[in-house]
Amino acid sequence: MRGIRAWSQSWTLTRRLATSATPKKSDIFIVGGGPAGLTLAAAIKTSPYLSSLSTTLVDAGDLKGRTAQFYNEPPEKFTNRVISLTSQSKKFLQERVGVSLMEDRMQAFDGLYVSDGCSDAQLEMERDSMGYMVEILNLQSSVLKRLSDLQAPNLELIDQTKVLEIKSKDPTDPQSWLTVSLSNGEVYETRLLVGCDGFNSPVRKFSKIESRGWFYNRFGVVATMKLDFPPFKVRGWQRFLPTGPIAHLPLPNDNATLVWSTTEPLSRLLLALDPEQFVLLVNAAFVLDDVDMQYYYKQLERGTITTAELKEDITHRTELRYGKLENDSMIDEIYPPIVSEIDGKSRARFPLKLSHADSYVADRIALVGDAAHTTHPLAGQGLNMGQGDVESLVKVLENASQRGLDLGSLLALEPYWADRYPYNNMLLGVVDKLHKIYSTDFAPIVAARSLGLKAIQGLGPIKDFMMARVSGPGR
Ligand SMILES: Cc1cc2nc3c(=O)[nH]c(=O)nc-3n(C[C@H](O)[C@H](O)[C@H](O)COP(=O)(O)OP(=O)(O)OC[C@H]3O[C@@H](n4cnc5c(N)ncnc54)[C@H](O)[C@@H]3O)c2cc1C
Repeated sequence: MRGIRAWSQSWTLTRRLATSATPKKSDIFIVGGGPAGLTLAAAIKTSPYLSSLSTTLVDAGDLKGRTAQFYNEPPEKFTNRVISLTSQSKKFLQERVGVSLMEDRMQAFDGLYVSDGCSDAQLEMERDSMGYMVEILNLQSSVLKRLSDLQAPNLELIDQTKVLEIKSKDPTDPQSWLTVSLSNGEVYETRLLVGCDGFNSPVRKFSKIESRGWFYNRFGVVATMKLDFPPFKVRGWQRFLPTGPIAHLPLPNDNATLVWSTTEPLSRLLLALDPEQFVLLVNAAFVLDDVDMQYYYKQLERGTITTAELKEDITHRTELRYGKLENDSMIDEIYPPIVSEIDGKSRARFPLKLSHADSYVADRIALVGDAAHTTHPLAGQGLNMGQGDVESLVKVLENASQRGLDLGSLLALEPYWADRYPYNNMLLGVVDKLHKIYSTDFAPIVAARSLGLKAIQGLGPIKDFMMARVSGPGR
């Protein structure tokens, strides 16, 4: 038995060496099968100018198994990574790339109600189908389905495989093709390497393109929630607490999703609480004062409050709040629907950071999506910016192809960076400022920002402009 295993291991080794000795060629090599990488592959294969180019996509995850399966056998419960997709991104995916998203698992929302946890300032934005709440797995598996239906020749999709090494074929020539070595032993040579490989992007590291930014020292706690009843108004709710914004966003029927951005210790506490305590805090965070919330956090941390006491206290203070309203019908206008339970396993946290690469292009390299930029989720723009990048890069490659340019040359790629960098930089800056302005309970700043929010609420054209950003151009 041992002999057979030893023989098979040495055979694997010989086979690996043999394959690595003969690199395969690919015109475009995409690292990363997240939303950006998969959309890019599908956009290339549906382009009249680019579809004939040999294209390879490699990802470390189980794309052909777990991710693709989501489309064929969707789980009953909603998964916890849900994003707000702008109308523009949806249009690009559906109309240009031909993707059929799983519509029954998406929820259009008709507005946003934004409030300040330190004052009574609020901003109410209403627009039909302002955006769509979509599970990331819905997006990825729907794009995979599109790719499988296309049966595109010249497309190789390699999953459960890592990029181990990237090299220049000829280090003395900056324009030489790149060599990519994979964990399955295969080696590829490519004229254009696209890094859709997320925040830690190996492609960006190889390119030596500098990325600047910082961790916010905040975590986004996500969870899938069940509501007491389907919402009266299908809209998103966001309340800015000094520790970070909490967002309650609709999913079909009586389901909703949570993104609660908060400090590291609080995010740990939120994950450690029992589900009932967690639900009580989520409901309280949209109604009560920050000082009440701080009191609960402390008691829960010390273990000096029981679930029954927490419930009684929150119910009492919430009733007091409701009692101050002009009438009961206002409750549904200014507070989100009550959460009745959470899917216990759906709670998770993600570190939040700002990062922006100095350039998105180098000789033979383009960066797309989180590999080029990451942002705080408070405006729901990260993935949408990546979709905008894909749309732009594909147009730029189409132009280059029509002009007979080498697709991996800086001459061909630079218009992509010129198109996307200013827009993304503006958005990253605005979101960063919003985070900073709202991460304080310092009275003069609270007063100034409340005045700002009230002014926007009263000014039609500015509100329209903001709604247009939320619906996205993303481009
Ligand atoms: C809490 C939270 C809420 C958010 N909400 C929103 C929202 O509402 N709207 C929105 O637009 N955005 C939102 N975002 C941002 C959004 O999730 C990301 O911008 C988006 O998922 C990034 O997609 P991507 O394809 O660029 O990168 P990723 O999804 O990170 O994909 C990168 C891929 O590269 C692969 N990879 C990396 N290294 C290698 C390697 N060496 N070899 C092989 N493969 C490799 C990985 O396996 C991965 O699949 C949110 C983010 C968070 C944290």
